[in-house]
Amino acid sequence: MIRLRSSLFALAAIACGFSSLASAAPSSTLRVITKPIEPFAFKADGKDTGFSLELWARVAQEMGVKYEVTWVKTVPELIDALAANKADVAVAAISITSEREKRIDFSQPYYESGLQIMVGPGSGNTSSYPLLTNLMTWDFAKLLGMLALALLVSSHVLWWFEHRNNPESFPSSYRHGVWESLWWTSSVLITGGCENKAPTGVGGRLVAIIWMLTGILLVSYITGSVTSAMTVRSLTTGINGPNDLPGQVVATVAGSTAERYLNDRKLEVRSFPSLDEAANALTAGNAKAVVYDAPVLLYRALKGTSGGAHVVGHVFEKQNYGIALQQDSTYRKQVNEILLRLSEEGVIADLRRKYFGSEE
Ligand code: GLU
Repeated sequence: MIRLRSSLFALAAIACGFSSLASAAPSSTLRVITKPIEPFAFKADGKDTGFSLELWARVAQEMGVKYEVTWVKTVPELIDALAANKADVAVAAISITSEREKRIDFSQPYYESGLQIMVGPGSGNTSSYPLLTNLMTWDFAKLLGMLALALLVSSHVLWWFEHRNNPESFPSSYRHGVWESLWWTSSVLITGGCENKAPTGVGGRLVAIIWMLTGILLVSYITGSVTSAMTVRSLTTGINGPNDLPGQVVATVAGSTAERYLNDRKLEVRSFPSLDEAANALTAGNAKAVVYDAPVLLYRALKGTSGGAHVVGHVFEKQNYGIALQQDSTYRKQVNEILLRLSEEGVIADLRRKYFGSEE
């Protein structure tokens, strides 16, 4: 009887030992979950790769843990999996938000991001010299032509009146004289006067008066054209920032922070399962803009896969990416320490260089 009891005790002790071991290290192979978001998490030649997945591989190596990766489609699925204890770690381009923080935990941020806008080919501000493009009109060319002609004619007439009595200011040789006269007419037009020479004869002064009056008119006319070109620019270049979005159909990816941003602002949103599909809607003309994570849009533009679509305006709604963990995860402290160390050692900067070509 005593022997039976003691062997029962021994069995119970072994069982207890196993269960406490299991709770200290929930599984020897970590369950990592991710979703496609190039260049942070994607498959290339059948292999899992990307900025975040490579970073995670380094973290896991430092932690000395094995892991296996499962792919899902959206960020909410990642968060649900963590909350339901179906995964231990989620890595993609997951923005740290207060709402998500309520259900799961995040590591230190490892990438500063935000939202940006992509517009279709032919819209937005495509020219690097927008003012110049607006000014390069036939009318403006005619105006400049008229100005050149008026300068030439008045310089000739002035020289003709002045060259006999006033050769010091307007030399009598044709080429030299007209050149000096042109200097006078241009100076008067642009600066309102010319210091070292002046017409002295009656004819010359009459020409000068007429030229000065014409100059005032011409200068005001040109100023007016430049101003209107600038106004036209601000009226016609379409979407250049988040303030231009109201009234437009905006495409984005379902479950993303971009979708949340657009919905909060009551904008007209079309959500798609992937960025490719959102971008297709843009090219097909079913949406006027795509709002999504800035680095993802820029990477796409850099790779030339955006089919003429381009990124406009500045980054807004700043957000940071972190590694997502279960609420009160025992791995959090270790992951944070390693992330900080990898950042100090320049590993994160190297990844930036690898995927974005710069450390910025
Ligand atoms: N940073 C975005 C988010 O956390 C990514 C969205 C996505 O992966 O589709 O919501």
